[in-house]
Amino acid sequence: MPTDPTPERFMRLALRQAARAARNGEPPIGAVVVKDGVVVGRGYNQRELRQDATLHAEILAIRSACRRLASWRLDGCDLYVTLEPCPMCAGAIQQARIRTLRYGATDPKAGAVVSRARVLDTPGLAHVVRHEGGLLAAECRSILQAFFRDLRMRDRSEGSRGTRRKAALDRQVSRQAGAAPSGHPEEPGPPAPPGRRPAGP
Ligand SMILES: [Zn+2]
Repeated sequence: MPTDPTPERFMRLALRQAARAARNGEPPIGAVVVKDGVVVGRGYNQRELRQDATLHAEILAIRSACRRLASWRLDGCDLYVTLEPCPMCAGAIQQARIRTLRYGATDPKAGAVVSRARVLDTPGLAHVVRHEGGLLAAECRSILQAFFRDLRMRDRSEGSRGTRRKAALDRQVSRQAGAAPSGHPEEPGPPAPPGRRPAGP
């Protein structure tokens, strides 16, 4: 048991952000930025919701901290994220001058801190980010595992990906033909059609 409970408290706040992503049907990954013991930025994965490849939890947390502190330099700030960052996020963490990165679960497929690459340990960087993994790793991993287990169960109950894509296209065609039962054919479709599923971490 660590003697200082503070890092765990902040990771629990990152987990709360991750739960918000899961409620939107996104892989549950959450992040917070902390300065002097105060949360100054929060983010959760919104890639599917907003169909934007860059909207990872860390990027959104960094952006919100930059807005709050009115500075792109997050000097003295620490970032807590539930999953080991990817290359894009590791780069953003270094660019934002984050002091310490603490993450929960490692990501053997796409992690760029210790797993697939060591972006933050690149020699010669002007700013060096300290990093430490494994904080509440079991909880961070289990919410992801539960999410993907549910997704697989839904896949099985709703048919194959191809079947669901065809059903979604059929619905779209009938909407365009004015046959939508809602009576609002001009309404945009849902942000993530059933034929599209989030990519696994
Ligand atoms: Zn990322």
